[in-house]
Amino acid sequence: MKQYQFWFVVGSQFLYGPEVLDTVAARAAEMAEKLSAVLPYPLVYKVTAKTNQEIAQVCKEANYEDSCAGVITWCHTFSPSKMWINGLADLRKPWCHFATQYNREIPNEEIDMDFMNLNQAAHGDREHGFIGARLRKPRKVIAGFWQDEAVQQRIGSWMKAAVGVAVSKSMKVMRFGDNMREVAVTEGDKVEVQAKLGWQVNTWAVGDLVREMNAVTEAEIDAMMARYAERYDMATGKLDHVRYQAREEIAMKKMLEREGCMAFSNTFQDLYGMEQLPGLASQDLMAQGYGYGGEGDWKVSAMTAILKAMGEGGNGASAFMEDYTYHLEKGREYSLGAHMLEVCPSVAADRPRIEVHPLGIGDREDPARLVFEGKPGDAIVVSLIDMGGRLRLICQDIHCVKPILPMPNLPVARVMWQAEPSLTTGVECWITAGGAHHTVLSYDVTAQQMKDWCAIMDIEFVHITKDTTVESLEHDLFLSDLAWKLK
Ligand code: MN
Repeated sequence: MKQYQFWFVVGSQFLYGPEVLDTVAARAAEMAEKLSAVLPYPLVYKVTAKTNQEIAQVCKEANYEDSCAGVITWCHTFSPSKMWINGLADLRKPWCHFATQYNREIPNEEIDMDFMNLNQAAHGDREHGFIGARLRKPRKVIAGFWQDEAVQQRIGSWMKAAVGVAVSKSMKVMRFGDNMREVAVTEGDKVEVQAKLGWQVNTWAVGDLVREMNAVTEAEIDAMMARYAERYDMATGKLDHVRYQAREEIAMKKMLEREGCMAFSNTFQDLYGMEQLPGLASQDLMAQGYGYGGEGDWKVSAMTAILKAMGEGGNGASAFMEDYTYHLEKGREYSLGAHMLEVCPSVAADRPRIEVHPLGIGDREDPARLVFEGKPGDAIVVSLIDMGGRLRLICQDIHCVKPILPMPNLPVARVMWQAEPSLTTGVECWITAGGAHHTVLSYDVTAQQMKDWCAIMDIEFVHITKDTTVESLEHDLFLSDLAWKLK
C-alpha cells in the first residue's frame, strides 16, 4: 500500500505585512503537525500563498506528486479569489475547503485590529467559497475548530475517500475469462470507466493462468499451506484439494503482481484446464487487499479493492457479496448474503474453517473454501452500475447480525443483515434504482465516504437510508436522470 499524504495550503495576501505572514506560516505548520498526529494520513504544510503564481505552482506540484492524495485549503484571512482561479482550474487532486481558525475563542481584552487581521477566516471563507462554487469545482467543505475531535474525524473520513480516489485512478483489473453469459448488470463500458474512474480493465487467458499454476513448486505450496494453518482451521481431510487452491492462489498472485493489478475476476464458465473453481484461493487473496468479482464482474471487483483500501489500515473489512435469500418471518426479516465460494474473511466473526464440498456449477472437482459467519455491526452495501453513458453508485445502510440460524448444511461463508428502511421497502428501493445482486459490503467505509468519493469522481450517488421511501426515490431518480443528461 502506497503511503499517501495531504497538502495544507493557506490562503493569505500581502495587505497586513510580513509579520502577520510569518505568524500565520508558523501557526499553519503547527496545525499541520498536530493534525497529522490524529488524522489517518499526514497533513503537510506547503505554503502561505499570496499570489496567483504561488497557488498555480502548488496545485501543479500536487497534480504531479503521486503521494499527494488531496489538498486542504484554509484561508486565515481574506485571500482574494481571482488569484486562485488558475491553480484551482488546473487542480486534479481532491480538494477540501477547511473553514477553521487558529483561535477557538474571541479574546475580550486582546481583540483589536491586529487580532482581526490574523483571524479573518469568517471573512476569507466566503471569498474562497465563492470561487469554488463559481468554478463548479467538486470540493468538500468542513467547518469547525481544528482541535475538535468531531471536526478531525470528518477530515479523516474525507481523507479516506480521497485515498479511494487515488487507488481508483491507479486501479488495474485482471479478468480471467469474460462475464457470465447473458448477464446484463455485470456488463459496462470499460472505456467510460477508465476515463471517469481511471480503471484499466483487461483480460488474460485462463490458459496463461494454468501455465503459471503448472510452474508452481511443491515448496511454494508448502509455504502457502503454512500460511493457511496460521490463519484458518483445517476442517477437512482432503488436503490435496486445499493444496490445489494454494497452487491457484500462488499463480494468480504472481500474475497480479507482475501486472500491478489490485483486482481480478473469473467465471465458472471458463475454467479450461483447471480442476477447481478458485475458492479459498480467491478468499485468501481478498484477505490481502485484492478485489474480486465472481462471474466476470470486474466492476464489483475494482470496487471491492477500492473500499478495502479506504477502510481501516488500508485493508478494511470490505467484501464481495451477493444477495442470496430472504428470511421473511414477520418482525424478523433478514437478507442472507453469501456467494458460491468467494466471501472475504475480513468480515468473519470468528476464525474461518477450510472445508471441501462439492460445487454443482462449473463442472469441476470439489473446491476448498473458507466457511464462517459474518460479524455483527452497522455496514453498507454498494453497487456500481452502468446506466449507459454514465455511472450510478447505489449505497444502502444495513445492520449485520449474527445469523439467526446455524444453517449447518450451508457450505459457504454467510452474512445476515437487516436493510434500511426495512427489508421489503429496502428491496423495492434497491430494485427501483437498478442495484446489482453483486455488491461490496463494508463495515468500515461509510455512506458519507462513498458520497464524497462519487462527488470527486463526478458520478451519481444514490443513498437508501432509514428515511428513504420508494416514492421519494423515484422522484429523485427521475430528476437526477434529467440532470445527468444535461451535465
Ligand atoms: Mn455471483
